[in-house]
Amino acid sequence: MAEPDGLTLIDTTFIGASGAIRDAAQALGMPIVRICLTHAHSDHAGSLDKLVAGLPEAEVCFGAREARFLRGDRALLDGEPKKMLKAMVKLRTRPSRELLPGDRIGSLEVFAAPGHTPGQIAFLDTRDRSLIAGDSFTAIAGLYVTSQINPRFPFPTLATWDRPTALASAVALTSLKPSRLALGHGRVVEPAAAAMVSATARG
Ligand SMILES: [Zn+2]
Repeated sequence: MAEPDGLTLIDTTFIGASGAIRDAAQALGMPIVRICLTHAHSDHAGSLDKLVAGLPEAEVCFGAREARFLRGDRALLDGEPKKMLKAMVKLRTRPSRELLPGDRIGSLEVFAAPGHTPGQIAFLDTRDRSLIAGDSFTAIAGLYVTSQINPRFPFPTLATWDRPTALASAVALTSLKPSRLALGHGRVVEPAAAAMVSATARG
């Protein structure tokens, strides 16, 4: 996301993508000044350590709950369903800031989006209501809540920690009436609101 002082990067894909991410920022002609993660899965956080090594000034933001996973503490907390955690990655990098729902990071407001992982977060751009929602949904061959298997791309659902919680979060994100929905997997969905309503009704 572009801000007056540079780019806020949300998620870093698999390990090995740091060069491609830096090239993409260079093509946009703006520096990466903030890096935020939606959740602690390897295909979202994998390139963070390498990327931060080349961007020592960048602010690094993790959701507070996911920060525990990212430093290697996989314990579930009281009140969290005792389901299996999958594909979690441990990082060397420690965040310069831990985010809670309601926090602002530049133009982005943080929302809770648990279920896919216990502490996934989403980011709503307050300028145009674009929502960046990690793996709350997938948008490959249609829009699916991650609680429901997308037959063309089942992996995010198979890696989901607690499907009922994921569906409840998708419903809550839908109530924000985003203009546009950007996800970890699939195309950007625009307009987003009606597609999110039908995906959550199926989900
Ligand atoms: Zn994921």
